[in-house]
Amino acid sequence: MKDATRRGSSHKQPADLSGIYRDVPVGLCFFDSELLYVHINDWLAVINGLSVEEHLGRTIGEVLPDVAVGVELLLRQVLETGKPVLDGTVEAETPAQPGVKRIFQHSYLPVKSDDDTIIGVTCVVQDITECAQAEKELNEREERLNLALDATSNGAWDWNIVTGEVKFSPQWFRSLGYEPGELAAHVSSWEKLVHPDDMPRLREVLKAHFEGKTESYEFENRLLTKSGEWRWNLDRGKVVERDGDGNPVRMVGTDSDITDRKRFQEQLQRQQSELAHMSRLSTMGEMVTGLAHELNQPLYAISNYVEGCLHLLRNGAAETGELIEVLEKSASQAQRAAEIIRRLRSFVGPREPRRSSTNINELIRTVVELVDFEIRRDSVSVRLELDERLPLMLADSIQIQQVLVNLVCNAVEAMLDNEPDTRVLTVATSLSEGRTIDVSVGDTGDGFPAETADTMFDAFFTTKPDGMGMGLTISRSIVEAHDGRLRAASNPDRGATFQFTLPVEGGWHDES
Ligand code: ADP
Repeated sequence: MKDATRRGSSHKQPADLSGIYRDVPVGLCFFDSELLYVHINDWLAVINGLSVEEHLGRTIGEVLPDVAVGVELLLRQVLETGKPVLDGTVEAETPAQPGVKRIFQHSYLPVKSDDDTIIGVTCVVQDITECAQAEKELNEREERLNLALDATSNGAWDWNIVTGEVKFSPQWFRSLGYEPGELAAHVSSWEKLVHPDDMPRLREVLKAHFEGKTESYEFENRLLTKSGEWRWNLDRGKVVERDGDGNPVRMVGTDSDITDRKRFQEQLQRQQSELAHMSRLSTMGEMVTGLAHELNQPLYAISNYVEGCLHLLRNGAAETGELIEVLEKSASQAQRAAEIIRRLRSFVGPREPRRSSTNINELIRTVVELVDFEIRRDSVSVRLELDERLPLMLADSIQIQQVLVNLVCNAVEAMLDNEPDTRVLTVATSLSEGRTIDVSVGDTGDGFPAETADTMFDAFFTTKPDGMGMGLTISRSIVEAHDGRLRAASNPDRGATFQFTLPVEGGWHDES
């Protein structure tokens, strides 16, 4: 209080406040206890369409007969109770602008003498036309937005990241089976509904957006409805306000129900994975000669080692050390055969489509081993240009192996007319813009005519006498199901390169 007094007294005050009273763009007038005008400022006099003098000493009934009854009632109420009255808004034409309705807000305040008796009423009139119109427009806009959100089953949210408060739209609640406002307006309400398995990735994607690494935030996750079912949801948002240090302060976004789309996608994926499985079986059918040959080698070696041991034992010439050495060799050949069968089984065995953190370079090495027989038989030299610092990706490793087997086998076949020493298969990996992994399979064959660059990916398109024409179709659908792209290009010198991209796990990778 002391401070306030000091502050007030240290500043010069205008000697006469009447200038402010006259010029302020607010209507001010004072009625005495008889409800006669004692003061009125110019602004209000103009609104009322009379001069200041024409008001003084007159009642409101004489000045403004149209509104007198209502206003007098309020003035009397203030005189009797001594309490201010904030009246609602009044729409009226003014003599200054006939034919134009403006909106005024009236307030009535008691005026007391030094001994606390009520000696009159001050009336404050404000022209709030522009303000009311802006509010009306804002309400209409919000209504339209809500209607649009309702129609698309989208719910909207506005999140204060600093305090954790969230304004959820009525549709946000309804789409999850709740009544508007049934859950606390806090980020924790939403967090409790997110499927726990989706949370770690969601946090990563959100963090990347908070740190300004992504333009906007987008994530598909499951949300628990009031009835206890999991609903698939597309969560989209954007930080719209940051503090001076760049930390996010406010984020707005929408949630849309994508359960039907997800179910359809899952069904499509199941069908695609069954088709892919059939195709793997048929690929294996084509590779069976090579596999038989590959299996034959260790089996033949095992048989030789065992024969050798038997021979030594029969002749009584067996020395323990020698026997152990031969049997160890035999065991390692048996392991080699088992490994070939394991690879084969994991490639063609029936299985549910399953995505996990996958290292693309390891998949490429496995595939090169799987088709090793064809590569050696056809004298193809292999160049692996693999970026060893690549991040992981979320993928179905068997399906991606299948894409690689298709592309590698096509590349090998495309080079069969070449001289053996010019058959070069190049498999390369790299990271593009920290977001996608690029994989390319290049050959030095005859390439393809420009007009088949797209049709090649059509089902049953083949230029091979015994071809099925399904390899590229299935490969493309597998890559696209992984949110990637597969395309073909002719090399500038000779041959073709098939390139596919796959998103990095978590949507983003820091290269620094
Ligand atoms: P298929 O191998 O049974 O023909 P694909 O769908 O794998 O089925 O391939 C379709 C066609 O695309 C091939 O028949 C061939 O004409 C063309 N093609 C695929 N890979 C290459 C390649 N590396 N070089 C040139 N043409 C290719």
